[in-house]
Amino acid sequence: MAHTAVPRIGHLIGGEISDSDVRDIHDPGRLDDVVAQVAVGNADHVDRAVLAAHAAFPGWRDTPVAERAAKLMAAADILGGSGEELAPLLVREHGGVLWESQTDFGLGTGVLQHTASLVEDFFQPTQFDDEQSFISVEKVPRGVAAAIVPWNMPIVLAMMKVAPALGAGNTLVLKPSPFAPAALTLALQRMAAQLPPGVLNVVHGEGDVGSALTRHPLVRKVGFTGGTATATKVLEATAATIKNVTLELGGNDPAIVLDDADFDVTLDRMLKGVYKRTGQICFAVKRIYVPRGMYARFADAFCARVDEYAVGHGLDPQASFGPLNNEAQFKKVQDLLDRTRNSSATLVELGRKLDPSSWDNGYYMLPYVVRDVEHADPVSCEEQFGSVVPLIAYDDEEQVIEWANDSDWGLGSSVWTSDPDRGLAMARRIEAGSTFVNTHSFDSLDLRMPFGGVKQSGIGREFGTAGLSEYVEDHAIRLLK
Ligand code: NAD
Repeated sequence: MAHTAVPRIGHLIGGEISDSDVRDIHDPGRLDDVVAQVAVGNADHVDRAVLAAHAAFPGWRDTPVAERAAKLMAAADILGGSGEELAPLLVREHGGVLWESQTDFGLGTGVLQHTASLVEDFFQPTQFDDEQSFISVEKVPRGVAAAIVPWNMPIVLAMMKVAPALGAGNTLVLKPSPFAPAALTLALQRMAAQLPPGVLNVVHGEGDVGSALTRHPLVRKVGFTGGTATATKVLEATAATIKNVTLELGGNDPAIVLDDADFDVTLDRMLKGVYKRTGQICFAVKRIYVPRGMYARFADAFCARVDEYAVGHGLDPQASFGPLNNEAQFKKVQDLLDRTRNSSATLVELGRKLDPSSWDNGYYMLPYVVRDVEHADPVSCEEQFGSVVPLIAYDDEEQVIEWANDSDWGLGSSVWTSDPDRGLAMARRIEAGSTFVNTHSFDSLDLRMPFGGVKQSGIGREFGTAGLSEYVEDHAIRLLK
C-alpha cells in the first residue's frame, strides 16, 4: 500500500525542532514499511532539554492559573483536531486498529480538558486566621518534570503527565517510547507551538536517554508509565537526588464472575477488555475466574465469541485487532504460549487470519483461550500483554478472593454479578487501584476516578485532582501575630 512521505521527526528543545541521527520506525504489521524516521538522542540532548525547561520554569510558574488553564484547553483543541490526521500514522507505528488509535487521541484530549477545568479550584489555598496566627497552605509546582511513556497507548499515557505537569505550573521534558514515537511527537510539537518556548520539550531515545533524564539533578519530578522492571531502574536513578516519582506499571487484572452473573451482559462487556489492542493494555482483563458449576458453559460461550475475531493490519477495517507491537513482546508471548502448551492446561487457538500471506511479515498472533488452568500456572500468574487469556475454575468466594489477591500486582480488577450489593462487597475485598463491577475496559474509565496501582503496579495516581497533586508541593506559611 502506498503511503505519504516518511516523516522525519526531531527532538523538541526550547521551542526548536532539533535534528540528529535518526532511526527507522517500522510498521509491526508490515515489517518492510518504514513509517517514520525519528531522532536518536543522548545525554547531551537530555541536558539541553532540561536546561531549556529549567529556564522556562519561572515564567510558566508565574503565569496566572487561569491563563495556564486556557492554554491547556487550547492544547486539548489541537490534540483533538490532530486525531483524524495522525491516528493512521499511530496505527502504522504501534499496530492497533484505527478505532483504538482514535480512542487514544480522544482519551488524551479528554484528560487535557478535564485537568484544565480543575486547575483554578485546585490552586485555591487552604487558610486559617485566628487570634494567634494566619496560616496559608499553598500549592506550588515542583520545577522541571520528566515524563517517560510506553508504546501501547502513547497519546493518553503522555497526556496523563502533560496535563497535570503543565496545569500545575511545572515545565516538562517528555521521552516517548522508541516503539511509538512519531504520532505523539507530531501532536506535541503542535501543542508546544502554543506555549512559551521550553515549557514542553521532547527528547527521543532508549533506556540510556531515560536514565540520563531520570538522573538529571535539575529534574524534580518523574512521571513514568511502563514495566515494573524498568521502574526499579527509575527508582534507583532518582534516589540520589531524592526526586518525587509517580509510577504506573504492569498489572495482572483478575475478573471474577459470580454465580448470579448475567451471561450475555458479562460476555458482551468483558470481551471489550480482554483482546483490545491485542491484549496490550495495562488494565486489560488478564485472568478470568469462573464458578466451577458454570465453568464449562461459560468457557464454551466465551470461546465461541472469541472465534469471531479476525486479525489483520490495523488499517484493514475488517480487523478486530492488529499485530503485537515489537519483536521482544512477540517472543515473550510466544514463549508463554509454548510453556502453556507443555502444561496440563488446554490452549485453544481461535479466530482467523485476514491476510494469511502477510502473516509472517508482522508480529501477528491469533486470539487464544486457555482452559482448565490452575491458579498457579504461569499463564495465570504472569502479565501476558498479548491476545491470550486463562479461564480458571473456583469453588467458593473465599478461594477466589485469595487467588485474586495472590499477585505482586494490583492495577485493575472486576466483579461480575446481577446483585449490586454483592458486587460492591466483593469489590472492597480486592487489592487493586481500581475495581469495576460489571465492566472492565475503556468504558470503565471515568476521569473522576484516580487511576493507578497498588503493590508492584505502581506509586501514586493519575487523572483529575489526584493527578495534579502528584505535580505540586504544599508550601505551608504561618504568620505569628
Ligand atoms: P518499558 O518499561 O520497557 O518502557 C517504558 C519506557 O521506559 C520507554 O519509553 C522506555 O524507552 C523507557 N526506559 C527504558 N529503560 C529505561 C531506563 N533505564 N530509565 C528510564 N526509562 C527507561 O515498558 P513498555 O514495554 O514500553 O510498556 C509495557 C509495560 O508498560 C507493561 O508492563 C504494561 O503493563 C505497562 N503499562 C502500564 C500502564 C499503567 O498505566 N499502569 C499503562 C501502559 C503500560
